[in-house]
Amino acid sequence: MKHIASVVDLVEAKQHRYISLANEIWSLAEMRYAEFRSAELHASLIEEAGFKVNRGVANMPTAFVAEAGSGGPVIGFLGEYDALAGLSQESGALTCMPAAGAATSNGHGCGHHLLGSAAHLAAVVARDYFAANNIDATVRFYGCPAEEAAAGKTFMARDGLFDDLDVALSWHPSVANSVFMNATLANVQAYFRFHGKSSHAALAPHLGRSALDAAELMNIGVNYLREHMPDEARVHFAYINSGGVSTNVIPVLAEVLYTIRAPRSEEAIDLFKRVKDIAAGAALMTGTRLEIVFDKACSNILHNDTLDEILDRNMRALGGLEVNASETDFAAKSRAP
Ligand SMILES: [Zn+2]
Repeated sequence: MKHIASVVDLVEAKQHRYISLANEIWSLAEMRYAEFRSAELHASLIEEAGFKVNRGVANMPTAFVAEAGSGGPVIGFLGEYDALAGLSQESGALTCMPAAGAATSNGHGCGHHLLGSAAHLAAVVARDYFAANNIDATVRFYGCPAEEAAAGKTFMARDGLFDDLDVALSWHPSVANSVFMNATLANVQAYFRFHGKSSHAALAPHLGRSALDAAELMNIGVNYLREHMPDEARVHFAYINSGGVSTNVIPVLAEVLYTIRAPRSEEAIDLFKRVKDIAAGAALMTGTRLEIVFDKACSNILHNDTLDEILDRNMRALGGLEVNASETDFAAKSRAP
């Protein structure tokens, strides 16, 4: 408890600067891969705090890594700062109300202004705590762009930026204050495009090869796959192009987007191979040509049970949030139908 109290003191001594950082990022509300000013606010502030900053990592101008301390375990804090389209909101308003005079219609509906700023403060406080207690440790703050539907961290992982970490710590605003111990599913996403041969569907159907037939047979084949998948696996598809709106024209092009999810990356990759085989079978059956366009993939989160338990124990020792009467009143109003 002594350690927790000293960390709380360090956080409280610095909190105002980081609350104003969160407010500045709330107002900027920059979208994925365009978080130029938000990333620079973070990078320059942590530089002032004595961290060495490497900007533009993994070929992304809005990604950076800041480091302080040396030796010991390498502890990473992950920060995000991207906003969402169309979610501009007046601060503190309890109904849908775009911010007055805002330069953008984007908004921080998901709370990444808080997420990034608090993770940043956590990295600075961790460095301060280790220095004050003569503990050898290397602390990093990762400025991670494009969390929203664009997987910015994937490119940072591909460039090996997380390889020497002992632990990566992250958090997200939510409705509950607890350690996130849930499993997540790995996923693979790809477009399946079938190229057929157009012809008049009544005059010369024998000369045509239907791309739409191929897409339909692929979907039917995948539906038969479902019985033989791991229980928690999920496969979804959406038609991107169903081949046109004329019934008398044999569709020359059809395209389906597939997302394949499974508890572990290896299982998702295995299922992806099986879905590709089904698509190839559909092309063979229909005399069409298959083109597969890989879109993206993400691993499942790898939890460290020991660290999760330590985090849980410390959060419980810290106790619940203290809220005053006006905050309770605000929360009650936000829940009102
Ligand atoms: Zn989010």
